[in-house]
Amino acid sequence: MPKRVETIVLHDSSTPVIGDIQTGGVVKLLSIDSLLNQARAHSLWPLTFGLACCAIEMMSTVASRFDLARFGSEAFRATPRQADVMIIAGRLSKKMAPVLRQIYDQMPEPKWVISMGACASSGGVYNNYAIVQGADQVVPVDVYVPGCPPSPDALIYGVLKLQEKIKTRKGNKLIELTPRTLEQDMPAEVLA
Ligand code: SF4
Repeated sequence: MPKRVETIVLHDSSTPVIGDIQTGGVVKLLSIDSLLNQARAHSLWPLTFGLACCAIEMMSTVASRFDLARFGSEAFRATPRQADVMIIAGRLSKKMAPVLRQIYDQMPEPKWVISMGACASSGGVYNNYAIVQGADQVVPVDVYVPGCPPSPDALIYGVLKLQEKIKTRKGNKLIELTPRTLEQDMPAEVLA
């Protein structure tokens, strides 16, 4: 909600002076939800998880021609612990499905999933015993990107759609940091 600045109060000499704000200027007030959502939406870190040919197009999104970095998502991570969006790029075999689920479970909350391509979303042309007929049978999918393969700009459009979804997220919680003792973290037999 925009507000007009009536007065600027500097509490002490350590408060930084904000150069642009002058009396009569406009400031914007945000809820914590909105602030967290904005930060998360514009700094999505995808998990490196290519399964088949779609992965080549996924790799192209971070190259100079398409440059996913313009939208804050160029930092593909090689570990689920540092990623918050899984891009399933390619057909998902039944043998690979438990691995995908385990990696998804290892990602910290909040986390999102993009299903890239016809194979990941529905099995595509692989209507057979070996391929999962839709990755949403294994993990919850937030955005489906159609195509065989989807072009890099189609995947970027999917990332933008995910950003829109994240910006409407409600119920963010601030983490409460409470001091923990060593006894709380370690079992008694280890400390003995
Ligand atoms: S959708 Fe097409 S390009 Fe993507 S994994 Fe399937 S066959 Fe390959």
